[in-house]
Amino acid sequence: MKPDETSKAFAQKLDENDELKKFRRLFFLGDENTIYLDGNSLGRLPLKTKQLITETVNDQWGNQLIESWNRNWYNKPVELGDKIAELTGAAPGEIIVCDNTSANLYKLAHAALKLQPKKNRIVSDVFNFPTDLYILQGLINDFGNRHELVLARSTDNITIDLADLQEKIDENTALIVLSLVAFKSSFLYNALGVNRMAHKKGALLLWDLSHATGAVEVELNKTDADLAVGCTYKYLNGGPGSPAYLYVRKDLQEKISNPIQGWFGEHNPFLFDLNYRPANGIKKFLTGTPPILSLLAIEPGIDMLLQAGIQKIAEKSRRQTSYFISLLQSLVPFGFTAGYPQEPESRGSHVSLKHPEGYRITRALINPGKSTPRIIPDFREPDNIRFGITPLYTTYTELWQTIQRLREIVVTREYENFSQDKNAVT
Ligand SMILES: *Cc1c(COP(=O)(O)O)cnc(C)c1O
Repeated sequence: MKPDETSKAFAQKLDENDELKKFRRLFFLGDENTIYLDGNSLGRLPLKTKQLITETVNDQWGNQLIESWNRNWYNKPVELGDKIAELTGAAPGEIIVCDNTSANLYKLAHAALKLQPKKNRIVSDVFNFPTDLYILQGLINDFGNRHELVLARSTDNITIDLADLQEKIDENTALIVLSLVAFKSSFLYNALGVNRMAHKKGALLLWDLSHATGAVEVELNKTDADLAVGCTYKYLNGGPGSPAYLYVRKDLQEKISNPIQGWFGEHNPFLFDLNYRPANGIKKFLTGTPPILSLLAIEPGIDMLLQAGIQKIAEKSRRQTSYFISLLQSLVPFGFTAGYPQEPESRGSHVSLKHPEGYRITRALINPGKSTPRIIPDFREPDNIRFGITPLYTTYTELWQTIQRLREIVVTREYENFSQDKNAVT
């Protein structure tokens, strides 16, 4: 007899046969009654990180004090950059960890515009993360309002219209800034295709990898990527506010410069020379002193991803998102509609589900009655409930339970117990 693929037993079987199942135990799970589906916003805490922070505070800051700079701290931005390079198909010396995604985007976008003073078009899309667009709007102002920012459109509100994107990239385009995975719908670009589109017109492309790295295959070198930025607190499990990273392709490194000429990006900061000379290679994109505790906290999460292998993680992500989407079909009669791309190869690792009562349903998932699992997704305006799937710790059984809870909440109208008023962070 064919197994019932919608049964709990089937989900449990998938978990038993999961090659990556041993990684879940390496995270702090706390209350076992919590199903965490927001790893695309803030990854779970690796147990090793907990221990590492205590050791860093006691041994390095506490005992070794300033000596720790030479022993443990000074080279970390480069060392961690090289590890992220391994995760994203870049070469050593092409990625460095520093600042936050917004600041890194500012630095690289500024550099790209400065390199091409005669061109005055910047292209992005309507799904980009707002901070990216805010930074670009500010840069346009800084450069004397010579540039226009045009956004590729979406006709279905889920995927970007690639023909429109292609049309908007013209010979006058200096820079294209796109999120590889869209934060709302999870739409995933074909990086190789879009890089080619950009290069054909002589434009530089800057990818924002925040919703991609650690969840899908990112092949910066193979796809001929120019520039990229990304954060480390989502699928890399680096912790709240952990520093971000930036990528500059080797041959571009000598052509562009950092608009924020801080001493950490200087050739030899401890000569304290009064005149700035940029460091060689990727290091010139550093600015000032990094937040060491947060910086060091990134490493255990990255090590786990490297150990599991990004290929295996991405495969499990596709299996889990497809499984979850197949179960979602039973919710269609209750007013839920797809907020995700239909083709698996066009999806990242979170699944957006639309419902007119999306916000209150999210509140009900997070605040259940006694002896019901607490399920944590997040909500994005106007009606998207986002379920983040993080293959290192999300189980098939959790996904199955989430479907049952969603059905229960709408059938019993449990969401009506919650207010429409939004919290500051949704
Ligand atoms: C999370 C995220 C950011 C966050 O930027 P910060 O400056 O690090 O706060 C930026 N871009 C995208 C696409 C994101 O998903």
